Amino acid sequence: MNIVEPIGLSEQHDNKEPWYLPTGQEVEVFEQCHARQLAVLLKGPTGCGKTRFVEYMAWRLGRPLITIACHDDLTASDLIGRFLVRHDGTQWQDGPLTRALREGAICYLDEVVEARQDTIVVLHPLADHRRTLPIDKTGETVAAAEGFQLVVSYNPGYQRMLKDLKPSTRQRFVGLDFDFPPLDQEVQIVSQEGGVDYANAHALVSLAVRLRALRDRGLAEVPSTRLLIAAARLIDSGIDPKLACQTAIVAPLSDDPTLGSAMRDLVDAMF
Ligand code: ADP
Repeated sequence: MNIVEPIGLSEQHDNKEPWYLPTGQEVEVFEQCHARQLAVLLKGPTGCGKTRFVEYMAWRLGRPLITIACHDDLTASDLIGRFLVRHDGTQWQDGPLTRALREGAICYLDEVVEARQDTIVVLHPLADHRRTLPIDKTGETVAAAEGFQLVVSYNPGYQRMLKDLKPSTRQRFVGLDFDFPPLDQEVQIVSQEGGVDYANAHALVSLAVRLRALRDRGLAEVPSTRLLIAAARLIDSGIDPKLACQTAIVAPLSDDPTLGSAMRDLVDAMF
């Protein structure tokens, strides 16, 4: 069950195994990080499997997962908690980070670089040996329950010039590099998640390999595994493959007419 709340929060509590295809030694490394209470930074382009990996690891380790989608309006209070005014006075309400600490959950902050510096700083004592969260407003210092782990993700290519993580933040984390999976594995993922046969999945991934090469010609965002799965699902629903690629891959990636026509040529050559 996933509960989504207004600040971009979701929680995973059920026992259904999320399907995840490992692409390297990320599962063993993460397990050791969890056992050794190390905070983890997942680096990689959007849509390459970081969130699915965390969902899978939380299931595998038997921990609840609290996911927070970061954005630039996210405040420290959104994470820690706040006093709510009620008819009979005020009452403290834990934020998702404090709840994760008390429950021994895995707390996953997606796209952490989007959050403001004064919000990110709150994570520092949780990402090093202290594993505590001082709450100024109540005077309480919450110690992390066994099993608590901090995991953050970020996309190094995206807005690199505008936003980056400070060295004082980065150096508190173990970094796991993610990228689009090798061809055979990406075909397996697109086929499994998109519901298409091997031939269609292979054609979609081969198209993506060519489109990703357009990065050198100015394509800022290249097609992710997620976009390929969207195209596969349209094909599975009976939409013509060329139209599926146009709507699910070409249109979301660029508004530039030259790049759009170069991408359409590649689609025509592939299907
Ligand atoms: P990110 O968090 O990196 O933006 P996601 O984890 O949401 O990306 O990945 C997008 C989709 O791609 C997932 O919902 C899943 O369907 C699929 N996916 C990507 N990599 C894998 C993988 N290794 N195993 C299983 N599914 C994957």
